Amino acid sequence: MKRLSIKLKITLYFTVIMTVLAGILLFYTTTISKSVVRNELYETARVSVMKLCDSARYKSPKFEENVPPLGQSKPENGKRPPSTTDKPEGAEFTVDENAKFTDGDVFLCIYAIDKESDTPSVYGALPEGVSFDVSTAKNEQKTTLSSGTEKYYVYVKQIRNPGNKDECAWIVGAIDATISSSFTKGTLRLASLAVPFIILFAALLGYAITKRAFRPVSDITKAAAEIAGSNDLSRRINLEGNGKDEISNLANTFDGMLDTIQNNYDREKQFTDDASHELRTPVAVILAQSDLALSPNATDEDMREAMSIINKQSLKMKKLLSELLTLARSDNNKTVLEKEAFDLVELAEMVIEEETYISERKNIEITLVSRTPVEIFADKTAIMRVLINFINNAIKYGKEGGFIEVNIERYEENKARCTVKDNGIGISENDLPKIWDRFFRADKSRTDDGHSSTGLGLPMAKSIIEAHGGTVNAKSVLGEGSVFEFII
Ligand code: ADP
Repeated sequence: MKRLSIKLKITLYFTVIMTVLAGILLFYTTTISKSVVRNELYETARVSVMKLCDSARYKSPKFEENVPPLGQSKPENGKRPPSTTDKPEGAEFTVDENAKFTDGDVFLCIYAIDKESDTPSVYGALPEGVSFDVSTAKNEQKTTLSSGTEKYYVYVKQIRNPGNKDECAWIVGAIDATISSSFTKGTLRLASLAVPFIILFAALLGYAITKRAFRPVSDITKAAAEIAGSNDLSRRINLEGNGKDEISNLANTFDGMLDTIQNNYDREKQFTDDASHELRTPVAVILAQSDLALSPNATDEDMREAMSIINKQSLKMKKLLSELLTLARSDNNKTVLEKEAFDLVELAEMVIEEETYISERKNIEITLVSRTPVEIFADKTAIMRVLINFINNAIKYGKEGGFIEVNIERYEENKARCTVKDNGIGISENDLPKIWDRFFRADKSRTDDGHSSTGLGLPMAKSIIEAHGGTVNAKSVLGEGSVFEFII
């Protein structure tokens, strides 16, 4: 059973259920038809008996015969003339001459009980071998009588002698019961011949329907096998018909899942390509500069210059690797936040102090708008990296002699908002949505220091803030300046 396909299993269950149902139906049909036919036969017998009742009755002697001739006070024969109040004593049981004792399939018989005679007078006859016991008879009785293998349904009607309560007549109608059993047998035989064919037909039809319904599953299996075999993630099931049933839903979900896998795969691939490309450049510069420094003709000056370039490139690589690591951790949901309560304003003051050394080179003034403490519960080192990135960018992309305003304030009930505003080169409307993408850098020629830019700073800042359940945002006007914000 385990090895059978679902299609076959469903057909099998369905066929078994059909067979059981057909059996139950057959049983009830036979039982009901049996009882319907039996009742009909009793009714036929009853109607025939009632017909015969019209031809049989108890009759009183005619009164006129006993009436004395005119003028006689006493009747000649000494009998008293009957009065109208007299009971019709001595009523006799009579059966019309034209009374019929067979009516269609019904055998009719009358047993008249006379109090003066022990044996009843019998009119008509029951089928051969069938005897009726008048001593146990009841009025309107329905019973069965048999002779050998023959069975009869019998209906009994009593006619009472109105003048003598001890006298009565039983009118008995008997009809062959095999008419009923032969009908039931016929129905059964017909049904038992037809039912297997009906079940077989239903099973075949059921299998065809199940096969058709399961066809999309085969398509899904085929597509999945092809994708697995070819490694082609661009393939889709694209189920025909685009129905709304469960299997179409499954196929669409499967296609949706492949979309996600392909997107993630493409992103990962792009990320790896970009990362190796970003690392290749500083490594190449370091190799070239170290070769230069090691060459026999290198002067002290050359060596110092080479070492300075190597140092810059190494710092860039360090920054790049650290940002890559942060992003990789956040991608794998492995960012471990070491949260603590601290004053964000105090942290900003510290970062500003450090960054002032760099900003002074461009004559950019950094100011902290408010010094009101704003305490937050977060990973201090991670938030510091975000602040450094925002302020560093504001300096990097700031204009000579420009300004940077850092503002930290309470946001909503227990959140903090930090904005870093500059009047630098700004970002074009087109580039603004892309700045959070990994390795994105707006036109490098616009920056003053292409060497220190990695295109990973903002994505890293975003991942850190989002890991804290916060949000980042940027507004900018090209040529006028930008405002970077995080809410945590
Ligand atoms: P990086 O600064 O190392 O290039 P980031 O991810 O920090 O990488 O920034 C991505 C890009 O966003 C930058 O290359 C720059 O074009 C733009 N950008 C970021 N901050 C500013 C800013 N304050 N002013 C103008 N452009 C900015």
